[in-house]
Amino acid sequence: MRTKRLPYYECRQGIFEIDEFDCGSIFVVVGEERALVLDTGTGLGDLRWVIENKITDKPYDVVITHNHGDHIGGAGFFDTVWVHVNDMDWDNGKVLPKLDFRKRYARLISKREGKHYIYDVDRDIVEWEKTPEKKELKDGQVFDLGGRTVTIYHCPGHTPGQCVAIDDLTGTLLCSDACNNNLLLGKGDAKSDLEAIENAYKSLKRIWDMRDRYDEVYNFHHDYRGFGSPLAENVLPNIVECLKSLLEGTAEIKMVPDALSETGAEKKVAVYDNVQITYMGGDISKLC
Ligand SMILES: [Zn+2]
Repeated sequence: MRTKRLPYYECRQGIFEIDEFDCGSIFVVVGEERALVLDTGTGLGDLRWVIENKITDKPYDVVITHNHGDHIGGAGFFDTVWVHVNDMDWDNGKVLPKLDFRKRYARLISKREGKHYIYDVDRDIVEWEKTPEKKELKDGQVFDLGGRTVTIYHCPGHTPGQCVAIDDLTGTLLCSDACNNNLLLGKGDAKSDLEAIENAYKSLKRIWDMRDRYDEVYNFHHDYRGFGSPLAENVLPNIVECLKSLLEGTAEIKMVPDALSETGAEKKVAVYDNVQITYMGGDISKLC
């Protein structure tokens, strides 16, 4: 039987962060009538049981913020998921939600920080029960949960279909992988590297310009922040500045260890204060 011991914490009123043993964070926003689940992690353990038995007995929708394997890995344990059309093709990425990827990823994350977790990769990561039905998630889509609404915004950059969410009751931005101290940017559908950076800049500047609607930001891995704690306030504006410096050709480029490398390789990043940007579509230093 898969583990049911996924840690969770109510970080703001009715907003729960579920820790999938550092592989991913799953958020659940609970209203008076319904709940909204954001992402499904790598599919380690019985997430559905935790949601339905520990967090809420209300009906809920499941939103997939983007199509990476550490966010859709548990999608096959739910009937229906909402996902942006640009990220609907789950087999079109480097990171597939296949069993082999999910097990390898969990092992890598646990090795990375040398932590001990009470789970067994072979017992707790199993094949999907089904292929969920996909529904199209749209920019500006509002989930009315009763007493609170959660609005979805398309924010391409990390992936072409990346979405973020704002909870109006608490003023919380749930930004998934669209923003964090170590932003990974993809090329997506952009025709050039510069266009990819420009698209990401526009996306995140738009969300930053909505800042009167939120006062805390949570990304969907709790790297660079405590579990249940928000990102530092300057992370989003610093990422916007870092993208701007890339567009203006003034970015500072550095070599740093690649935390996701299985061979201990280094990678080139653009840095700005406490943030860094990795460009997965090409050589970031050529942009400067
Ligand atoms: Zn991702």
